[in-house]
Amino acid sequence: MRVLVLGGTTEASALAGLLAGDARFDATLSLAGRTSAPRAQPLATRVGGFGGIDGLVRWLRAANVGAVIDATHPYAARMSANAVAACAQTGLPLGSVVRQPWQQRKDDNWCVVPTAEAAAAALGRMPLRVLLSLGRQELHAFAAAPQHHYVARTIEPPLQAALPPDLKLLQARGPFDRDSEMRLLKTDEIDIIVSKNSGGSATYAKIEAARELDLPVIMIARPVKPAGHILDGPQEALAWLHGRAPASRRGV
Ligand code: NAP
Repeated sequence: MRVLVLGGTTEASALAGLLAGDARFDATLSLAGRTSAPRAQPLATRVGGFGGIDGLVRWLRAANVGAVIDATHPYAARMSANAVAACAQTGLPLGSVVRQPWQQRKDDNWCVVPTAEAAAAALGRMPLRVLLSLGRQELHAFAAAPQHHYVARTIEPPLQAALPPDLKLLQARGPFDRDSEMRLLKTDEIDIIVSKNSGGSATYAKIEAARELDLPVIMIARPVKPAGHILDGPQEALAWLHGRAPASRRGV
């Protein structure tokens, strides 16, 4: 059975590894193209948008896809909405790998806001030293709060023209551990962190380090992300796909 995996996450890469070793499936991994040098994958990979819902419908039909797995990032809401709509139009089964969000603990000091713009406003008027750990796409929102010193950690340099004036760019790709996060927060004398609630373990160390140093975190809430059949992780996604594979080809 031909499978399309919408990826860009650790879970998608893990599923790619599982599918690559399973002769029942002929799978393609799709990446948005947000990073110029994505990690090598064991599956056929395509990169870039499909051209909205219509483009995705065309792609699914042309590739004779039998099932779709949405394993995109928790904040990639548009791709997920397109996947739900395209699968409804084509009658294809859609499984969505949903990564659980981090939960605030009693000893965490979080302020949850709906958007990056709201996060910039929530920093307040007094100049602060801010770690921006939210990817590169929304850094321009902090140009509206130019009084702060920002350290922005991204995988790739930002592309926007309008960025906050006092911005130090730090290029790094997770996973990050507690010790290196403690070091970063102390060396750069960070007062506050702005983060997305990505969930998972790869980028959780900054939340633990903030807790330990008693630093506040402005947490940008997750967007509403439409989903198909909810799946917990790569193993469950593989089992779900096995259930969708045509009976005559099972066990091949
Ligand atoms: P998005 O807003 O949901 O998607 C925007 C468009 O990008 C989609 O409509 C689609 O274009 C294309 N696209 C997204 N994921 C794709 C995939 N796997 N394969 C092919 N095309 C894809 O998602 P985003 O712009 O990538 O990111 C939104 C938020 O998620 C950002 O805040 C970002 O920091 C975060 N995030 C994303 C990723 C990722 O790998 N995408 C990873 C980490 C964090 P068409 O409509 O033309 O098909």
